[in-house]
Amino acid sequence: MAARVQHTLYQVSTATALVEGIYQGAVQVAALREHGDLGLGTFESLDGEMVVVDGHFFQVHSDGNVREVQDDILVPFAAVTDFSPDRSVTLDNCADLSELTSRFDTLRPSDNFFFALRVDGTFEYIHARAMRRTKEGVPLVQAAAVQPEFEFKNILGTLVGFWTPEYAKALNVPGYHLHFISADRTRGGHLLQCRGKNLSLQIQSEGDYHVVLPQTNDFLKANLRRDPTADLAKAEGEKK
Ligand code: ZN
Repeated sequence: MAARVQHTLYQVSTATALVEGIYQGAVQVAALREHGDLGLGTFESLDGEMVVVDGHFFQVHSDGNVREVQDDILVPFAAVTDFSPDRSVTLDNCADLSELTSRFDTLRPSDNFFFALRVDGTFEYIHARAMRRTKEGVPLVQAAAVQPEFEFKNILGTLVGFWTPEYAKALNVPGYHLHFISADRTRGGHLLQCRGKNLSLQIQSEGDYHVVLPQTNDFLKANLRRDPTADLAKAEGEKK
């Protein structure tokens, strides 16, 4: 049997480094462009959220403003892929984020591959956040404790992101990680909660995992031995 073409997930830095406050820019947006047209990440000094959709790179600032970024902007952490989905379905009723991820669970043929995800439609509700510029070395959990959060109602837009296997939790955020951008590209952020109807879901398996390690002084000197799981769950989820 001929092997199927493996899509490449191209990632800069690691989840552990982000958790420990390694926010120095490691690569330029121009370099990421060569490796994907869909994805997510953040910017130097944790300055907002990155949303990559249809080859356009957007920065969601902590004041809520969104702008398309230039090639020379620096990035400490990101994951991108060239997206041509394996499967597409419609989710008629999505009461919350857990219903969305449960539907994606049924589309994933394995817990041991990475998957790229895209959702399009009108969302009755979106709860998102955007990180504030943060000093190098301030742990992600502390930065997330003061993150500005946004709520949008009846907004047309797109979710992009990834599902990462549990075994890769030191490298990327395990489970589902999604970022939102509105269709008019004026609103967005790291997704905390959502609700919608007639959502179009697309998924692509990623069998080739490419990680670029930052050559920054802070990454080279950082202590990255700690398990980032608890901090990631706290920093990336909706506050209880
Ligand atoms: Zn995020």
